Amino acid sequence: MTQTTPAPATRHVPADLPDRIQHYIGGAFVDSVDGDTFDVLDPVSNETYLRAAAGKKADIDLAVAAARRAFAEGPWPRMLPRERSRVLHRVADIVESRDARLAELESFDSGLPITQALGQARRAAENFRFFADLIVAQSDDAYKVPGRQMNYVNRKPIGVAGLITPWNTPFMLESWKLGPALATGNTVVLKPAEFTPLSASLWAGIFEEAGLPAGVFNLVNGLGEDAGDALVKHPDVPLISFTGESSTGQLIFGNAAPFLKGLSMELGGKSPAVVFADADLEAAVDATIFGVFSLNGERCTAGSRILVERSVYDEFVERYAAQAKRVVVGYPNDPATEVGALVHPEHYDKVMSYIEIGKQEARLVAGGGRAEGFAQGNFVAPTVFADVAPDARIFQEEIFGPVVAITPFDSDEEALTLANGVRYGLAAYIWTNDLKRAHNFAQGVEAGMVWLNSNNVRDLRTPFGGVKASGLGHEGGYRSIDFYTDQQAVHITLGEVHNPTFGKSGEQH
Ligand code: NAD
Repeated sequence: MTQTTPAPATRHVPADLPDRIQHYIGGAFVDSVDGDTFDVLDPVSNETYLRAAAGKKADIDLAVAAARRAFAEGPWPRMLPRERSRVLHRVADIVESRDARLAELESFDSGLPITQALGQARRAAENFRFFADLIVAQSDDAYKVPGRQMNYVNRKPIGVAGLITPWNTPFMLESWKLGPALATGNTVVLKPAEFTPLSASLWAGIFEEAGLPAGVFNLVNGLGEDAGDALVKHPDVPLISFTGESSTGQLIFGNAAPFLKGLSMELGGKSPAVVFADADLEAAVDATIFGVFSLNGERCTAGSRILVERSVYDEFVERYAAQAKRVVVGYPNDPATEVGALVHPEHYDKVMSYIEIGKQEARLVAGGGRAEGFAQGNFVAPTVFADVAPDARIFQEEIFGPVVAITPFDSDEEALTLANGVRYGLAAYIWTNDLKRAHNFAQGVEAGMVWLNSNNVRDLRTPFGGVKASGLGHEGGYRSIDFYTDQQAVHITLGEVHNPTFGKSGEQH
């Protein structure tokens, strides 16, 4: 991996960039009720490039009322699955046709490398297409008790779904919730992350063009503790699908408890990549480099702890560090860039503080600070620590940046103990050519998703979610449909009525 084109000298500012963003409520763009806004920075200059409407409880109330009305009175929940599916396919077509523009804006706003932002835009289209297909193929169960009873499932949308999303791959993660929530006939209020509201503002136009009825999709920008909190505590929002940090998830869990809301929680991770001596070492190095440095390391399923069998440990660390040093840090819009700029100066400071902690705790073998050649902006050199002890903070805590911890192990048992020795349980990556070991390890590891001899490649039908502090509930395929619907059981007597006879013992004839 070498740099093929020189990085542009200055930041790239997309043409026709808006300088303000509003909410979208009941089919209209509106400012906050109190007129408040918040600043949005671009991660290369860290200068404010737009002001977004800062929603509070009053704005959430309006958005929920619009969504409630569209649910109670509008056509969307009552449309045939095929009709809703057509709208969702049109959404996918529009997203696909604008993938380059979407990627350009996302990359500018979030600092993600342009090639990876393009992949995420296409994935967003695919999410819509997938749920558009799934909803027309949906069938529900019927249970027969011959001659006596028939039971069937009457599946229905639940109401207003509250969707709260993080700043990493914002547009794609929004699509992952919007697709199934809308496919099943719910109406929604989306509260996107305050660091990266730009791409979310495009949904309104896309949905209008695709023919989604007004009021079905509503968007309120704002800070988590204001707009997000009001959405979680709104009594007319029976569902919250949240993706973000585990600590925020815990808070939301508590705040939603008095309302007994349906919750789907996709939370943080500190996923292990376990490399056994018999693995294809070159493939393992390539995959584990990609696994932690793609998406700037701001990836929930990043393999941010690499556990390596002692007999190949030194060789692995040497090859890994050498390759990490060659990973191309660059301006987000440069197609040659492999690691761009971290989303925000606050997050940059957090990642940098972990790098300093790591220097006290372990052996630094690559990176270790600001990327060379970038005097400003949130550029971090891909950073590798070796000999990381299992009680080190950089082993235990989610850093969410281009920083990886490598630790040796001597036996399968020790590898499993190390892999499971953190509070998180989102993903695990296992590298071995031993079939029995691969499956036994996969089944023993505490992770919602496991990849054997593979990077993170996911079929949309499979369950997505974490265990332990990484989440609650699973989405993906029909599980998403289940989360966004009620399954009402309808029981019908076919034969004679067999009533237990209460109150007949003293009957007078
Ligand atoms: P965050 O928890 O800070 O914020 C996520 C969203 O929650 C934002 O929209 C924020 O405004 C909102 N929020 C914050 N406080 C709130 C409150 N009190 N009530 C309601 N909403 C509130 O997370 P982040 O920093 O934006 O994202 C990074 C985190 O997300 C990482 O931990 C990462 O692992 C996780 N993540 C998980 C997955 C997954 O699928 N498991 C995917 C992507 C990211």
